[in-house]
Amino acid sequence: MDFSELKKTVDEVELVDGHAHNIVALDSNSAFIHTFTVGAFGDPDAIAFSRHTLSFKRSLRDVAELYGSELSLEGVEEYRRVSGIQSICSTCFKAARISATLIDDGIELDKRHDIEWHKSFTPFVGRILRIERVAEKILEEGLPDGSPWTLDSFTEAFVSKLKSYPFHTCEIYGLKTIAAYYSGLQINTNVTEKEAEEGLIKVLSAGKPLYLLNKNLVDYIFLLSLEVAQSYDLPMQIHTGFGDKFLDLRLSNPLHLRAVLEDKRFSKCRFVLLHASFPFSREASYLASVYSQVYLDFGLAIPKLSVHGMITAVKELLDLAPINKVMFSTDGYTFPETFYLGAKNSRKIVFSVLRDACIDGDLSVPEAVEAAKDILARNAVRFYKITS
Ligand SMILES: [Zn+2]
Repeated sequence: MDFSELKKTVDEVELVDGHAHNIVALDSNSAFIHTFTVGAFGDPDAIAFSRHTLSFKRSLRDVAELYGSELSLEGVEEYRRVSGIQSICSTCFKAARISATLIDDGIELDKRHDIEWHKSFTPFVGRILRIERVAEKILEEGLPDGSPWTLDSFTEAFVSKLKSYPFHTCEIYGLKTIAAYYSGLQINTNVTEKEAEEGLIKVLSAGKPLYLLNKNLVDYIFLLSLEVAQSYDLPMQIHTGFGDKFLDLRLSNPLHLRAVLEDKRFSKCRFVLLHASFPFSREASYLASVYSQVYLDFGLAIPKLSVHGMITAVKELLDLAPINKVMFSTDGYTFPETFYLGAKNSRKIVFSVLRDACIDGDLSVPEAVEAAKDILARNAVRFYKITS
């Protein structure tokens, strides 16, 4: 079989990146080693061990090769210092060839660049709103007249804040939830106002900085947001699967979303399960096959797993899921190198997975070529309605 057309397609397609985060200045206090780690935050021993993962070694080599720098973390850091942020961003994004990216700016980072700044490196940049961060900011700021919060006043403030965003002018392309990090995906779709109000009181009484560490309140905010998302036909990105240890992995299995997916009130909502739901990729694939409203995104699983892990995760997503529901993203964050690594590895892995699908007899080569364009670009354009 001749795969040259498929190879040419994956190498040349301009990528559409449906999920990423802000880049920070070179002198931010974010440690550069986290370009190559996943999940090992705040624990020096875990960070030291992360240097010995397959993904760390491969990714460090990829970046050192891109820069022509010495093959060591220190060598790459030295190259960054000498080059400056503009130069390394140019190098990374030129090599990544991303035509559009959607940025969830809900992570507060030291010396973070705003969304506008990223437009010098990607022709099109849109924003994704992280609902829990929106809620926390509203509660932290308080009511204008200084009166204490009630559930009613919070609900009104939250919903009108969401609706005040320029959805109609297409600056915002979706909402995002990290409920998995707070209390898990077993959303109680029947959470009562009384339960939510009790949750609100608990959260406020814990003081600032404010975190939504109450399941009833998180579930309530999620349901309020779904109503808004549905009325504006905005997709909801859902963190599923792996992350860091603050997340209970058992509760980030997307199968927990059944109550939400079965709820008639939200039957027209469009959901995208992020991170290939790793290690629940097969569960995610199943959900996308039985629920028309479920879509899949494999950012973070690529590039944070071994080559075997990345290939397996994408193959598992495609075991059952329709090809036109599976999407690339970089899940790039903080460091431009993460965008490069997401892009480079996605091209490589999508080629490998689709080539094998041809060899196995699942796809013809022309079908694989179309699938590559869909997965790496066209599905996200359609799903997020990216028009420019
Ligand atoms: Zn992310």
